[in-house]
Amino acid sequence: MFDLKKHIKATCLDDAIALLIENPNARLIAGGTDVLIKLRHGKKGYSELIDINGLEELRFIKQDKQNNILIGSGTVFSDIIQSDIIKKHIPMLSDAAQSVGGPQIRNVATIGGNICNGVTSADSASSLFSLNAVLVVKTQGAIREIPISDFYLGPGKVDLKKGEILTTIIIRPDDYMGSFGYYYKYAMRNAMDIATIGCAVCLKVKHHILADFRIAYGVAGPVPIRCLKTEKSVTNKKITLKLLDDISRFVAHDVSPRTSWRATKEFRMNIICELSKRATKKALNRAGEGL
Ligand SMILES: Cc1cc2nc3c(=O)[nH]c(=O)nc-3n(C[C@H](O)[C@H](O)[C@H](O)COP(=O)(O)OP(=O)(O)OC[C@H]3O[C@@H](n4cnc5c(N)ncnc54)[C@H](O)[C@@H]3O)c2cc1C
Repeated sequence: MFDLKKHIKATCLDDAIALLIENPNARLIAGGTDVLIKLRHGKKGYSELIDINGLEELRFIKQDKQNNILIGSGTVFSDIIQSDIIKKHIPMLSDAAQSVGGPQIRNVATIGGNICNGVTSADSASSLFSLNAVLVVKTQGAIREIPISDFYLGPGKVDLKKGEILTTIIIRPDDYMGSFGYYYKYAMRNAMDIATIGCAVCLKVKHHILADFRIAYGVAGPVPIRCLKTEKSVTNKKITLKLLDDISRFVAHDVSPRTSWRATKEFRMNIICELSKRATKKALNRAGEGL
């Protein structure tokens, strides 16, 4: 049974913010694919819900005049998969969206909920880390922009204050134009499984040189992470098979996987190193750079 004490449907974004402020113990519910499981398990803090499901003003994918790609937090994964803007400019995010759950989950689960639940395995998170995404968070009379790399404070903890709602995810043109990416999810099953490791690579190539390289992981630490030391070591290097081997050796020093019932830390480390090569190779292929 659900121990649901309050469920209020917000009529618009401002109404949702006002309701959150009026009901300080309440939590947002978007698609509910995480919230309802926690409610079902009787987890504390889930019995009062402000419902933002289906708010059209949070459901969009567009490009502004400066070529920023803007994704509304209420956009469901099926919309991301079908979006021409995403297919054309950031297919890596489409890879990530396709790897979430099954079709029924993807039709209701939102990208905002995926980020705000604060889990390291969130499939959209590592791609968004590698894209340097910026999160727009709104409350009454104030808006904050937070780089996604600063948003995760710890397992299940994100930088959201009382009364704040994630409204938009921004991907800047410098971070996607001329870039090619790939998201590789390793899970025990091909569908309906949480990532054992997720690896996102985003890169730029110039005259067979790795002109820009960004690599991020889910489940390689308590929160999604970027491998900044690896990125620095391999940027501006000639693209060779040896470079792929170097990347796979370097990433081991940037991550801190742990043992859980899903996999041991040693197994995860193996996957982390291997996926760095596979994801980089796929991204290079997309850039027209065969290896
Ligand atoms: C069967 C099943 C399979 C799944 N498979 C995967 C998978 O393969 N990969 C994966 O990454 N996830 C998976 N999930 C988890 C889940 O579907 C995703 O995390 C989903 O994106 C959550 O979105 P939601 O809209 O359902 O969030 P909700 O459950 O509504 O909310 C999640 C959290 O985010 C908060 N929140 C939601 N929207 C906002 C907002 N706009 N501003 C601030 N806070 C907000 C809520 O308060 C809550 O704390 C799976 C879940 C199920 C049930």
